[in-house]
Amino acid sequence: MCGIVGYAGRKNVIKNIMTGLKSLEYRGYDSSGIAYIKDGKINIIKKAGPIKNLESKLNYNDDASIGISHTRWATHGRADDINAHPHKQGKITIVHNGIIENYDTLKKELEKEGYEFKTSTDTEVACAVIDKLYKETNDMISTLSKINEVLKGSYAFNIINDDIPDTIFGIRKDSPLIVGISNDGNMLASDIPAVLHITNKYVVLDNYDIVVLKDDSVKYYDRQGKEINKEIKEYNNSLDTISKNGYDHFMLKEINEESEVVKKILNIYTEDNHVKNIYDIRKYKNIDIVACGSASFAGQIGKYYIEKYANIRTNVYYASEYRYQRNFFDKDTLVILISQSGETADTLAALKLAKEHNIDTLAIVNRRDSSIAREADSVIYTEAGIEIAVATTKAYLAQVIILLLLAIKDTKEEYKVIEDIKLLPNLITKYINEYDYNAIANVLKDKEHVFYLGRGIDFYLSMEGSLKLKEISYIHSEAFQAGELKHGSISLIDEDFGVVSVVTDKSISDKTISNLKEVSARGAKIITITNIKDENFSDYKIEVDDYNEVLNPLTVIVPMQMLAYNVAKLRGCDIDKPRNLAKSVTVE
Ligand code: GLU
Repeated sequence: MCGIVGYAGRKNVIKNIMTGLKSLEYRGYDSSGIAYIKDGKINIIKKAGPIKNLESKLNYNDDASIGISHTRWATHGRADDINAHPHKQGKITIVHNGIIENYDTLKKELEKEGYEFKTSTDTEVACAVIDKLYKETNDMISTLSKINEVLKGSYAFNIINDDIPDTIFGIRKDSPLIVGISNDGNMLASDIPAVLHITNKYVVLDNYDIVVLKDDSVKYYDRQGKEINKEIKEYNNSLDTISKNGYDHFMLKEINEESEVVKKILNIYTEDNHVKNIYDIRKYKNIDIVACGSASFAGQIGKYYIEKYANIRTNVYYASEYRYQRNFFDKDTLVILISQSGETADTLAALKLAKEHNIDTLAIVNRRDSSIAREADSVIYTEAGIEIAVATTKAYLAQVIILLLLAIKDTKEEYKVIEDIKLLPNLITKYINEYDYNAIANVLKDKEHVFYLGRGIDFYLSMEGSLKLKEISYIHSEAFQAGELKHGSISLIDEDFGVVSVVTDKSISDKTISNLKEVSARGAKIITITNIKDENFSDYKIEVDDYNEVLNPLTVIVPMQMLAYNVAKLRGCDIDKPRNLAKSVTVE
């Protein structure tokens, strides 16, 4: 969600900024803009729509010294040219990621004092607040150390002050911001990919850190305005390339990387078919898994594994609800937070709540140094590499595998389960290449509605399959426990309805099959992903191998992803960047 890239450098300032901004496109946005200093004066250009609209207005050869840029995911005000960032009030120009929750009250106060607002954004109000504080203090460090007293909500800012045209100022609260450091200049961006074309040296800013960035220096201050040192880190991860490597889409590339991801996880977290000392969940009596979207569906599979192998009562909650419900925290509870980006605002808020109650927290996160990774008591990285497609594939599988490893650690099944997981990389490759997904996708492509049906773990898998389909193909889709359908929702079924069933769990497959027969009897054609060989309940089948209760659920993940991908492709959708969605959801 939203990308910020600032650069103070000695050459190619606009080009370096735009390269960085494009590398953050995957996060999702609806408009973009840039402000840069040329001959001591600020120039602001912004456009709704894709970055190429901005580029068409931009002169790459303009001799800029510093600049800040933004891809906006609108929260306050329409996604149009005016509301696009940067915004300017008085001497202050800013780009912003986040939400200013008290912007309305502040706006009214500032209007009384003479500020006039051109946009409907919360950001322009924050800009005026900074301008006002700067007028009072005449000092940017004092200004920025005070904004926390005025602004409620979340923010990462890049700021240029007309009085100080060689400097970019930055500050963050609950929205990410990192500094990239190189000999040719320094960058201030919301994520590491944005700086990798100039450097692999970076600094992660903590909440309320203030940064003062020039082409030849970077200084850091704490919230009291005292200068501090920050650790410079190096980024080296071979899976983190931001090219499609010849694939039509990042999503397809990332599905193809799943074999490697599983191997990497086994390499890092197991030894001689034992789980290394990653985390001992066995000392807890209750586990709350808290996550959003696909991560919560990975959590549901985790619940199944943890209850089965570790025998610990586990509940899965949507992070956006967790903060506002009655929670029974006690010292025997572990809260596991799952997030690909590690910046998911709802999950971060749930983490903070658990910490306020002194509950142990474990994060399962893909992105190193992300807020959730740093704030949780313990972290396990999913090691899936950077995921660019908005619809998660490899990170979801990685979350499931990590949860399985946590569940089997120190159990008698540990050795055998790891042997099973080792079979998965080859199966993944086989399933990607073996089936004619296009033919089956054709069955779904013109449907308006699809149900995914399954029982038990097959239902939890169906939840992810259904989300995958709807988010990238825009076909309305819902997952149902197969047995639940007849209690109301079966009234929707007719011959135009799409039905996908997931049947891997033999212990309840007879019951599921009966439910599928009920659906068939009402005219719907059934697509099944199953390991049952001579079945007579489906019209179209993707047959996966039949191993055992650990491996079987894992075999259907890639076929479900490939099916959704192919349907979206047939419908001509923007697969990697579905409308209205953002890769990392940094607002609550
Ligand atoms: N809340 C701001 C807006 O709507 C920033 C959104 C973002 O993070 O892109 O303009």
